[in-house]
Amino acid sequence: MSKSSLKETLKDLDTKKISIRELNQDYLKRIKEKDNLNVFIHFSEENVLKQIDNLEKDNTIKKLKGIPIAIKDLFCTKSMPTTAASKILENFNPTYESFVTQKLLDEGSIFVGKTNLDEFAMGSATNTSFFGNTINPLSKENEPLAPGGSSGGSAAAVAADLCLGATGTDTGGSIRQPASFCGVVGIKPTYGLCSRWGIAAFASSLDQAGIFSHNVEDSSILLQSIAGFDQRDSTSAKVDIPNYFENLDDDLNGKTVGIPKEYSIDGTPMEISQIWEDAIKVLEKKGVKIKNISLPHTKYALPTYYIIAPAEASSNLARYDGVKYGFRSDEIDSLDEMYENTRAQGFGREVKRRILIGTYVLSAGYYDAYYLKAQKVRKLIADDFNKAFKECDFIVTPTAPSAAFPLNEKQNDPIKMYLNDVFTVPASLAGLPGISIPFGKDKNNLPLGIQILGKHFDEQQVFNAAVSLERSYE
Ligand code: GLN
Repeated sequence: MSKSSLKETLKDLDTKKISIRELNQDYLKRIKEKDNLNVFIHFSEENVLKQIDNLEKDNTIKKLKGIPIAIKDLFCTKSMPTTAASKILENFNPTYESFVTQKLLDEGSIFVGKTNLDEFAMGSATNTSFFGNTINPLSKENEPLAPGGSSGGSAAAVAADLCLGATGTDTGGSIRQPASFCGVVGIKPTYGLCSRWGIAAFASSLDQAGIFSHNVEDSSILLQSIAGFDQRDSTSAKVDIPNYFENLDDDLNGKTVGIPKEYSIDGTPMEISQIWEDAIKVLEKKGVKIKNISLPHTKYALPTYYIIAPAEASSNLARYDGVKYGFRSDEIDSLDEMYENTRAQGFGREVKRRILIGTYVLSAGYYDAYYLKAQKVRKLIADDFNKAFKECDFIVTPTAPSAAFPLNEKQNDPIKMYLNDVFTVPASLAGLPGISIPFGKDKNNLPLGIQILGKHFDEQQVFNAAVSLERSYE
């Protein structure tokens, strides 16, 4: 059995074609076979078997009963350690469960393990992890490719068929870009749709939980399960969560798609422009009206993001000081030295770079010039989208400016790495929902992704457009 969909598996479990134990044993086998990909920071067969035992004793009907799910190691879980892929949290065992993982547990899913990520979700290649790189399952022998990042472990877990779905977080593209690199579906919902409670914070005004899956239908099922209001997160939204799956409708006749001209960027590979054009043609054939739109502040999105995200990170990461939890340096003679050595030894290079940048842009004298300015530009970027959405129902763009790149290609050039986020960051700054679906291949036969953006809390339209494109591509 390989790459069955969640939808089909739920049916097979329901009709007893397969048992929860058989299903999960099949996944356990593959997880052990694919150990070389370094997908998991934490995996324990015993823990999975225990969950199977418990579910077998449980007679209640649950929506995701027995479904193997992988969890990004940024979500706090009681049953497994939570590291954020950082040395500073290497031995952290949370005493609480994140909102999202609790919802998945309540619905009876089985957590197969905690997936690798860039340290504190800062990166685009899953290569800043304290626990080593994850390898993209689509790599050819002797040519390891990056799975994208920061949720590279979760994207790879789905691509290698080690689970039927995985959680991710997306601050500036960390679900959509790795989904594109690994040839799977990844949705980042509207900011506020899923409570951030219990997720290690990177940039709180941008962080949002979401889902990786094999296809759009599965993604619509899983998103409904993790969405919802939660008073422990003051930015969590009180909105009705529709049954996205039941409401899926691939008839797009009469809808309007916006094509932003600013996403045609010099130097974008031919193949990326080609799949974008192909997607537009497919939509046109389905009776969708094509509307050329302008998002004039797009070019400022990347610099704006790389001011706001580090600023918030520098503040959020101040809590890791060796006092309350996590790693503490033992080379200490004074309190100051304890803070300094703990943070110097506990954080990796990229995290330190962000803390330095963030502290700088927030410091007296520079705050107005950088942070405040960035906040104003963020508003202009959001206004661009609001205006554009008066003329269209959804927006279609490429997800990333390249296919998966070799593992260490951009390792020593942070700016090159940051440029990979060029198509995903604007929607993050505006808090909009976005999905990436596999669409076309590059010249090396690697998957490419198309991104669909929607209005705030209009995940249904995003799913509808995505399922429609997906079905016409298959
Ligand atoms: N690649 C982006 C960054 O490094 C986005 C990361 C994310 O969305 N968590 O910040």
